[in-house]
Amino acid sequence: MRWTMDYQQILENIYQAIQPYAKKGKQADYIPALAKVNPDQFGMCIHTIYGEIYSIEQADTRFSIQSISKVFALAMCLSLKGDELWKRVGKEPSGTAFNSLIQLEVEKGIPRNPFINAGAIVMSDILLSMLKSPEEDFLAFVRAVSGNDTIQYNDEVAVSEREKGYLNAAIANLLKYHGTIENDIERVLRFYFLMCSIEMSCRELSLAFLAFANHRKKFNYAGVTLTTSQVKRMNAIMQTCGFYDEAGEFSYLVGLPGKSGVGGGIVAIYPLQYSVAVWSPRLNSKGNSVMGIKALELFTTETKESIF
Ligand code: GLU
Repeated sequence: MRWTMDYQQILENIYQAIQPYAKKGKQADYIPALAKVNPDQFGMCIHTIYGEIYSIEQADTRFSIQSISKVFALAMCLSLKGDELWKRVGKEPSGTAFNSLIQLEVEKGIPRNPFINAGAIVMSDILLSMLKSPEEDFLAFVRAVSGNDTIQYNDEVAVSEREKGYLNAAIANLLKYHGTIENDIERVLRFYFLMCSIEMSCRELSLAFLAFANHRKKFNYAGVTLTTSQVKRMNAIMQTCGFYDEAGEFSYLVGLPGKSGVGGGIVAIYPLQYSVAVWSPRLNSKGNSVMGIKALELFTTETKESIF
């Protein structure tokens, strides 16, 4: 069934309503290149499956998608390995921080899910083992699903993260110790950081995620093919694991599957209706965009559209 709602007006009202949060939180600075981003920015864009587009403010400014790239990596890994993937990584929420080592040690090197860093480092290893040109293939997939050939990695961000990436290096070492990754640790980390460094705008991200929102449509982009059922399951993992140890809170406040990144981006989908991306660099203590979460909470409240 088709809803008709004035999304543009709703977005403009939301932008006014979230102004009291404009200075709350702090941008990620543990990646030195991200510390240079102006934190006082905000953009939001919606694509409906009927082809309408609504946007406000800096919806066309590109930013570092960081962990949102983990959704693209999961799509590629599922396409290549199918259910075999779940022997290498779990699909339960972690309830711990994105870069936590604790569970990984207790659970003997099997990451809880593909959306925590440990899980994504395993996916990086899988793509390195299965593809001849992983860097080119990953970018080709992201470009194809976004319908945009200008999307790029940002080498400066990737290198800057590697220089200070002690915790991710510790995770990779623990994985290697337990035999969960096959390739050289340095190679795996380099590719992981490069995937995180991709830059996209809210407009580009919300268009890319329409492929997940519209899960009944054929998913086939640059050779990455998924069945309707696989896309549905990816959306389930976004719902339960997309926000680290704040997945429950996001579900409670917003009620949509989605994924966040420490660049301040969040993308969420309403199956068979729309995909929405929001970006603002100031993060809360869990690493999620303060204004982003508030804007999405108001959006699903105002539209009365959520999966619940
Ligand atoms: N590249 C970041 C890291 O590994 C991604 C974290 C995130 O966006 O949540 O720390």
